[in-house]
Amino acid sequence: MLYPQIKEILKFPADSRDVTVRGWVRTKRDLKNLVFVEVNDGSCFSSIQCTFDREAGLDSDTEQSLGELSTGSSVEIRGKLVTSPASGQAVEIASAQLRIIGIAPAESYPLQKKRHSFEFLREIGHLRARTNTFGAVARVRSRMAFAIHEFFQQNGFQYVHTPIITASDAEGAGAMFQVTTLDLDGIAKSGKPVDYSKDFFGKQSFLTVSGQLEGETYATALSRIYTFGPTFRAENSNTTRHLAEFWMIEPEFAFAELEDNMELAENFLKFLFRKALDECAEDLTFFDNQIQKGIIETLTSVVNSKFTHITYTDAVAELEKHAGEFEFKPYWGCDLQSEHEKFLTEKAAAGPVIVTDYPKEIKAFYMKQNDDGKTVRAMDVLVPRLGEIIGGSERESSLEKLEKRITEMGMNPEDYWWYLDLRRYGTVPHAGFGLGFERLILYITGMANIRDVIPYPRAVGQAEF
Ligand code: ATP
Ligand code: MG
Ligand code: MG
Ligand code: MG
Repeated sequence: MLYPQIKEILKFPADSRDVTVRGWVRTKRDLKNLVFVEVNDGSCFSSIQCTFDREAGLDSDTEQSLGELSTGSSVEIRGKLVTSPASGQAVEIASAQLRIIGIAPAESYPLQKKRHSFEFLREIGHLRARTNTFGAVARVRSRMAFAIHEFFQQNGFQYVHTPIITASDAEGAGAMFQVTTLDLDGIAKSGKPVDYSKDFFGKQSFLTVSGQLEGETYATALSRIYTFGPTFRAENSNTTRHLAEFWMIEPEFAFAELEDNMELAENFLKFLFRKALDECAEDLTFFDNQIQKGIIETLTSVVNSKFTHITYTDAVAELEKHAGEFEFKPYWGCDLQSEHEKFLTEKAAAGPVIVTDYPKEIKAFYMKQNDDGKTVRAMDVLVPRLGEIIGGSERESSLEKLEKRITEMGMNPEDYWWYLDLRRYGTVPHAGFGLGFERLILYITGMANIRDVIPYPRAVGQAEF
């Protein structure tokens, strides 16, 4: 049976009703006649205060448990819900009984009351969800995952599951993990060393870097689809915004051009920020106070703003005027560096910026080509502090142009026969984008490192378990 969690108990009136809380002890303060125990069950940011009054009399089991109790122990506490004299909380539990479910020995429990560094907490990833910060991140992640489905379902998009194992390199960036098959039994019997070069059932296969190409096959049948799943990139760099395993949301919709794509991306982000402000208010207040000052104000202003639109060519011209401020000198044809993205969102405009029409050389083969022969209908949504949060484009819908581009880029059109079929049979203008889920969570929480917004980060030097 599901029992009321602390989140619900805190909303009950202080009418002396009997309540039972179960959770983990955050703090214990023993003041001779009174003992205060703060219990948290992860259902919300707040802990509930449980007060044990020795003058009122406690049973001997409870008295003994109070003596043994330490931070991190799991407990069940029964008592009456009363008005709290302490500031900051309306109710507390006038406790009668305490039962320790599992003790956390004080000598060895790694999460003592002091503040721990995020680096240290990454080493104990199995326990960090018990801290304020990681509990809050996990709740925001959960709420945002649900909000993503809400947004698309409300707008007529259907959820499609694209494969994790795939033969196509959607981005052409080559940063893929290869999948091999291992006949461990056979290897053990033969006594030969493990052969890691074997392909997946005879075919070269990889972990997906993006569900887009497969997503397009459904968008050109169901009109509006989205994917939301794990993606993998062998990012061989140590940045605060790249993971080797991350979650991506990729809407793809037919009868749509770049302008529709920009509008969808802006509406989508604003919907998510508003949801976070409304429904993760307690956690966001914590992030605002402890992690990134002003994050609530920033999100609110973005919700009420209009995103700036600028072409890549105009953006580079603007950046060139300030070339002296950059380590990497901008020039037409370069990929925008994070310092450039920072400049565009924090100085040129104060807020999100959508950069469009990038040089075709720095973008993937599938983007719609402009008539100038040099640029493609790409868009990157950049946000202050973070840079790129969304990358997308209108897709090339002409069979002839797409085939030509694939060949030009040294790829084999035969490998893409199924993708070309979408243009061969009933082609339509269509567009889509990818939002990195962890970048979204980074932005909303104000956390500094992407490794701290996913339960188990997979990145260079970080895959302990
Ligand atoms: P970047 O320029 O930051 O490396 P990208 O242009 O390679 O990103 P896309 O291929 O456009 O990324 O992927 C779409 C979105 O997925 C990005 O806008 C970003 O939000 C997210 N993303 C890309 N790579 C990563 C990664 N390694 N870790 C986490 N999120 C990522
Ligand atoms: Mg990249
Ligand atoms: Mg990019
Ligand atoms: Mg991109």
